[in-house]
Amino acid sequence: MRNTTPGRRAESSAAPQVLDTLHRPMRDLRISVTDHCNFRCVYCMPKAVFGTRYHFVGHDGLLRFEEIERLARQFAALGVTKIRLTGGEPLLRPHLEDLVGRLSAIEGISDLALTTNASTLTRQKAEALHAAGLRRINVSLDALNEDVFQRMNDVGFPAARVLQAIDDAAASGLSVKINMVVRRGLNDQEIVPMAGRFRGSGHVLRYIEYMDVGNLNGWKLEEVVPMREILALVGAQWPLEPVSPERYGEVATRYRFVDGQGEIGVISSISQPFCGSCTRARLSPEGQLFTCLFGTQGHDLRALVRGGASDEEIYARLADIWRLRDDRYSELRTAGTPKAGQKVEMFHIGG
Ligand code: SAM
Ligand code: SF4
Ligand code: SF4
Repeated sequence: MRNTTPGRRAESSAAPQVLDTLHRPMRDLRISVTDHCNFRCVYCMPKAVFGTRYHFVGHDGLLRFEEIERLARQFAALGVTKIRLTGGEPLLRPHLEDLVGRLSAIEGISDLALTTNASTLTRQKAEALHAAGLRRINVSLDALNEDVFQRMNDVGFPAARVLQAIDDAAASGLSVKINMVVRRGLNDQEIVPMAGRFRGSGHVLRYIEYMDVGNLNGWKLEEVVPMREILALVGAQWPLEPVSPERYGEVATRYRFVDGQGEIGVISSISQPFCGSCTRARLSPEGQLFTCLFGTQGHDLRALVRGGASDEEIYARLADIWRLRDDRYSELRTAGTPKAGQKVEMFHIGG
């Protein structure tokens, strides 16, 4: 069962509790460092839409590392303890380890992680990231079968190279999780082989229900493979038992293999939404703050930073935004009454 009581297992933070309208604290910050990506995953950046004429954020529009650091300090002052770097493909941003070093030095940040497709992750890069303070990495891999994986990333990138990068990351001291988005008719036949590949490896595999993020991926409910079906498939092969959440606001529902070969997680944002304990804020590459993955309207923090606001003014603005937050898109979707409007795209604010 998910823990939805803020007090009980919330990460300890010395910061004053600023709660949103649904009594949720801010604990996690996801920073998208670029909207560029070298993959064209069919569920995220379909080629037909994201061709050569698509306009991505230009260099001057991106928040600079010192601007991200400055904002992150104020997020930490407000209660954020955990930062995840994402994108687009975050490793396409040159010298990402410099940003990791800046963020890991911020008081109050106890957990710094990265989500990546790992296509450019070498052993040397993994070591540089680890030396700068990165401790955890989530590598996206949707299939082991080369045909299926290459069809999904749609640029012919081999699964074998992602598997090599996973080994390099682990050898560099990074704790590794694997993210697999499951889309019916595309890679659902890979659910069991992926579990077989990663059980006993020390890496946790997390299945992600295909989500209706953005407006451009042609999402259909029939293509979602719900958590119960994923668990039934894996559990029929290797019996599973539930694991209690480690902390308040954890996104994955966790299960362990009864035979002691590790655990899996399922992110069930469609079949069992978890808005009630959602503590996540998201920063886009050009400094827009979104308080929900399915947000339609960001708050312009870049204008604030570049307009000469003091740290106190930035803090006050963040606190005001959070206090007014009432997002619970996934719960409303389940109830059949989602808010209307153009949603921000996944490649823009990350997962
Ligand atoms: N490019 C990096 C990567 O793929 O790991 C980081 C950004 S990507 C947007 C973050 C995560 O979101 C990935 O694990 C990706 O598979 C997942 N994702 C993208 N589109 C999704 C969708 N429509 N439904 C569920 N997960 C999605
Ligand atoms: Fe790129 Fe990640 Fe989106 Fe795939 S999921 S297109 S790798 S941003
Ligand atoms: Fe959080 Fe929005 Fe996702 Fe609900 S739909 S869990 S509020 S990001």
